[in-house]
Amino acid sequence: MASDGTAKDSGTELDRARSGDHRALARLLSLVEDDSPRIRSVIAELLPSTGRARIIGLTGAPGVGKSTVTGALVGAFRAASAKVAVLAVDPTSPFTGGALLGDRIRMQEHATDDGVFIRSMASRGHLGGLAASTPQAVRVLDAAGFDPVIIETVGVGQAEVAIASLADSVVVLLAPGMGDAVQAAKAGILEVADLFVVNKADKPDAQQVVRDLRNMIALADRAAGDWKPPIVSTVGVKREGIEELVDRLAGHWAWLGDTGELKRRRQARAREELTALAFTGLRERLAASRLDELASQVAEGALDPFAAAAELLAEAGS
Ligand code: GDP
Repeated sequence: MASDGTAKDSGTELDRARSGDHRALARLLSLVEDDSPRIRSVIAELLPSTGRARIIGLTGAPGVGKSTVTGALVGAFRAASAKVAVLAVDPTSPFTGGALLGDRIRMQEHATDDGVFIRSMASRGHLGGLAASTPQAVRVLDAAGFDPVIIETVGVGQAEVAIASLADSVVVLLAPGMGDAVQAAKAGILEVADLFVVNKADKPDAQQVVRDLRNMIALADRAAGDWKPPIVSTVGVKREGIEELVDRLAGHWAWLGDTGELKRRRQARAREELTALAFTGLRERLAASRLDELASQVAEGALDPFAAAAELLAEAGS
């Protein structure tokens, strides 16, 4: 059923999305967000057109200037005539679909520009849902010809770290006076950063943030040939430092390609994604299996849990 009619529909939709129809693109992304059964055939169909886009992750505590810097970055990439997409992902917010406040502000500037697509995604209550749907959303944007795709997350918690790790280049934003270097360190975001941005460099304490970061980077375990994250100072509101950020991102992208790290990262991500999908499938099969019956036997001491688990796996795998 899904192989003919549905695939054809999505093909037309994808063609429309490719030719710059933002409504068609938004519909495809809604399928992803709703975890629609149609998404499987859509992804299978667009897969050959993916893998081209550079994926940039941008994260940092609320208020450091992510929206501002992202807006400036979009402008800089557009100047080089790229088609740029931004996925603003909020793992903690229950709101979804369409424009959040930050979007509306940023969209005003790029509203008349067909080469820019900005979309918010929020979790619909199920934990881990966004980590699963974000890669599909990126695939849709990639297939529609957007490059780069910027994934912007709202905070510095574990979920943000997980989502930031879906990118080829992870940018961590900090700003003076927010004590967030420590917060970021706690969440483990410093380890996944490929580039640091110290925004609000117009503020007096910015240099101190840069020095702290430098010390942290110097202390990190790094083998020869490893990437050493550069620190870029920006004044987002004045677009200062944005060209340097673009250059540094280009440098990281080149390094990823030259060293084979891009391939390695994408392989590792695919592995994570497959494992997560397989686990989800397995969990569903288990729930529909003799789980309750076997659990009763284990609870009553009639069956040992290892034998029960082996039996379940054999059943689920067949
Ligand atoms: P987000 O929550 O991380 O997305 O942060 P926003 O981009 O919304 O910025 C938060 C506030 O910081 C806004 O009032 C911005 O105008 C302001 N801001 C952003 N960049 C700078 C900067 O470079 N210097 C100063 N002084 N303020 C900035």
